Amino acid sequence: MLWNTLIVLFTIAGMEIFAALTHRHVMHGFGWGWHRSHHQPRRQRFERNDLYAVVFATIAILLIAFGTRGAWPLQWIGAGMTAYGLLYFIVHDGLVHKRWPFRYVPRRGYLRRLYVAHRLHHAVKEREHGLSFGFLYAPPTERLKAQLRRRQAAGASGDAATTPRDEDTAGVGER
Ligand SMILES: [Zn+2]
Ligand SMILES: [Zn+2]
Repeated sequence: MLWNTLIVLFTIAGMEIFAALTHRHVMHGFGWGWHRSHHQPRRQRFERNDLYAVVFATIAILLIAFGTRGAWPLQWIGAGMTAYGLLYFIVHDGLVHKRWPFRYVPRRGYLRRLYVAHRLHHAVKEREHGLSFGFLYAPPTERLKAQLRRRQAAGASGDAATTPRDEDTAGVGER
């Protein structure tokens, strides 16, 4: 029981690292074809980027299936992945992108930091020069803003698309 709980918790933490690395190197790398849709205004209920969630969910289902047939502790790793996916859906899809019916915009604390960090991630519309790739962990807001300003000063691309608008940083938040 203790081990299983620890495995779930470690998997959640590990998934944040894995998701941030995947976001940086795969989604903003060769996987940009799926992820691009997420950096453009959404026109339909679903976007191609949602396929990543389908892939991760499939892996979690397989792990749970193998685990419950005796391959301990795969089911608990699958449970951790599922828990992470749930947190991702609440924070990323719900809180930041307002894909759920709730309209809460955090004003302070940890959730505020996450919220602003991901808005800053979306201040960059193209594949390169991104920042803040995590979903449940975010560096301090000021550090991210300075990073973004430096990149713009270095002429990352210099067009309006990379300029953080007020709502991205001051962040009263519609999409
Ligand atoms: Zn991205
Ligand atoms: Zn996003």
